[in-house]
Amino acid sequence: MPTQAALGEALNLSKLYVKKFGGTSVGSIERIEALAEKIAASHQAGERQVIVCSAMAGETNRLIALGGQITAYGDPREMDMLISTGEQVSIALMAMALQKRGVPARSLTGDQVQIHTNSHFGRASIEKVDTDYLQQLLSEGIVPVVAGFQGRNPQGDVTTLGRGGSDTTAVALAAALTADECQIFTDVPGVFTADPNLEPAARKLSNISFSSMFEMARLGAKVLHPDSVAYAERYKVPLRVLSSFEAGEGTLICFDDATKLSGEVVGIAISADLAMVSFDELEESSDTLASLFKRLADIGIETDLLSKTRSSASSVSFTISQSWLERVLAELDAVSQTLNIGAVYFEQDLVRVSLVGNGNLPKTEVAARVFDILGKQGIHVKLVSSSAIKLALVIEQNHLQRAVCALHHAFKLNEL
Ligand code: ADP
Ligand code: ASP
Ligand code: MG
Repeated sequence: MPTQAALGEALNLSKLYVKKFGGTSVGSIERIEALAEKIAASHQAGERQVIVCSAMAGETNRLIALGGQITAYGDPREMDMLISTGEQVSIALMAMALQKRGVPARSLTGDQVQIHTNSHFGRASIEKVDTDYLQQLLSEGIVPVVAGFQGRNPQGDVTTLGRGGSDTTAVALAAALTADECQIFTDVPGVFTADPNLEPAARKLSNISFSSMFEMARLGAKVLHPDSVAYAERYKVPLRVLSSFEAGEGTLICFDDATKLSGEVVGIAISADLAMVSFDELEESSDTLASLFKRLADIGIETDLLSKTRSSASSVSFTISQSWLERVLAELDAVSQTLNIGAVYFEQDLVRVSLVGNGNLPKTEVAARVFDILGKQGIHVKLVSSSAIKLALVIEQNHLQRAVCALHHAFKLNEL
């Protein structure tokens, strides 16, 4: 069966782009007006566009804080109802700014589009997107302006896709509509070798493979949400990251060409504000660990870099987002009587720095270099973990800038 894009070409239809604008890009009325100007110019030039907007910068945090004034752990359904409203403000403003420029535009919530998700409030996954309404608007020359980050579960409740989830909305719409490209417009000109706001020597990549991008995103490079990368790879959506503020080609996420993968480090991803929790096991037992991690999973806590070592006693450690520390310590305290848990220790203000490869990394060699480079800086590595294409290290947050700068330089990431 010919694809929508092929059919479009045969019928001489213009290209279809899904364009997503992040929080900073729609952060003020001036910025919305400036973007509307560009979208209007593309519309006049005959481009077909579906626009996806995030909430205005800071708005989702403000809404979360509002909920926090009522209860520390708000009911997940109500939290989603609350935090999904930020996007509704920006889509209405964007549609109005487009209409002012003579562009027929219509704002749509996730429910109006029919973006179907599962019921995992706060971190829902998109299962299906209906395209009827969008197709109808496009055929009438109307620009749909869709709220990112939100969907509806089978009961019709509002769900959200996790922080940064508007990227996933855009990719899911592009996949469902077989768009020519999904363009993620943001406050930097593309994907860099490291966060350009942290490492001034970071270099923009003209392209990056889906597997390296997924790993970068999963390990903290928030320029793309990891779900959006996985979704785009799965549904073969051409995906590009571009600046909302300046012209340029941005970064194209490319399908892996196994022959070109050389196992070199291509980027450094950072995940800050971590805490490490450790406890002694009084008696080694898988049941203890099973019950504890089940409890943590049930309340939605994600753990990482789990390790179990044995010297005089058996000790278990793992990292979590620092914001969960109080909750995790309370859980450990609650189970310490019934499970065989001894002393509990924790460390705060940690950061995970991950080296990501463009294929299988020679990990022993990379680890040797990393320990040498950081050792010379007097930086102590607290935990290490590796997988096929990454090596992740946990260090103190106050060493972050120095560590990233030294690693970026030593692995020659600023050179072409
Ligand atoms: P938006 O609001 O547009 O979704 P985000 O704040 O979610 O934008 O993502 C863009 C930010 O991602 C940049 O401002 C930058 O600080 C950060 N970032 C982290 N790692 C990278 C990277 N490797 N390349 C580009 N940006 C990165
Ligand atoms: N507004 C949401 C957030 O701040 C979603 C997004 O921006 O992608 O996380
Ligand atoms: Mg984002």
